[in-house]
Amino acid sequence: MNRLAGASAVITGGASGIGRATAELFLEHGANVVVGDLNEEQGTVFLNEMAARGYSDRTTFLRCDVSDEADIKALVETCVKSFGHLNIMFNNAGIEGAFGAITEIDADHWDRTFAINTRGVFLGIKHAARIMIGQNEGGSIINTASLAGLTSGSGALVYSASKAAVIRLGQSAALELGNHGIRVNTICPGVVFTPLMHRGKPDRADAVMRSSQPLPFRGEPEHIAHAALYLASTESAFVSGICLTVDGGLLTAGPLADTPMVNPPQ
Ligand code: NAD
Repeated sequence: MNRLAGASAVITGGASGIGRATAELFLEHGANVVVGDLNEEQGTVFLNEMAARGYSDRTTFLRCDVSDEADIKALVETCVKSFGHLNIMFNNAGIEGAFGAITEIDADHWDRTFAINTRGVFLGIKHAARIMIGQNEGGSIINTASLAGLTSGSGALVYSASKAAVIRLGQSAALELGNHGIRVNTICPGVVFTPLMHRGKPDRADAVMRSSQPLPFRGEPEHIAHAALYLASTESAFVSGICLTVDGGLLTAGPLADTPMVNPPQ
């Protein structure tokens, strides 16, 4: 415990799923946490639940649209105003966008998906890096891409393209910011049980898991949160520019026979 004692973190998309699990884990490990999310209702739920756990002094929520530069700037500045520093930036907010054939997809849909998934990460890196460079204390920037950014999937081409861009953006930023002691790393989750994965298609994640995922249990938001904790903490002090897949082995898998479900190891 306390692997992040005294550190201050901003987490986008922190009102739900992977971001929320990461916010909780960072708080458990002693960090101050500012969550930015479009969903104010869920943000209030998060704040109340963290207050009930005794974390109110170390938790802030701000409504934020990651595609809006003024919102991102305000978010990172809130962290500095509230807690004195910004040490960790987790650019995690994302949407799945619409699925469909390339011949049918609306260009507006492409723009919206890239605005949130890609421009949002760019803005997060830009404004966090400005503050971190000024602080002269290094820092850890973590982005959430997806296994879909490393592979191609018919129907999910806009999402795949937006996440592939995040992977390359993270690597280039790592190169540029390294001499300031700022590390930039990207997490590529596989299939994780969150509202994003369930929305409208409750059985999809189980189906993918049964057909292709070597590890025969569900990916949970906490699995990704632990990867973020590693990348945020000084345990990863010599790690920058990586793309960490956290996917139950899905990337390496060929088609498998039906995998029976078991409980995850405790
Ligand atoms: P989720 O829907 O549970 O959480 C996403 C959060 O982002 C929500 O709280 C939502 O309100 C917020 N958000 C959406 N648009 C926003 C915007 N413009 N500005 C600020 N906040 C916004 O989904 P999740 O599964 O936890 O997704 C988190 C990240 O993980 C996303 O980037 C997603 O693409 C990625 N991912 C998820 C999976 C999966 O299987 N769940 C797999 C690979 C990658």
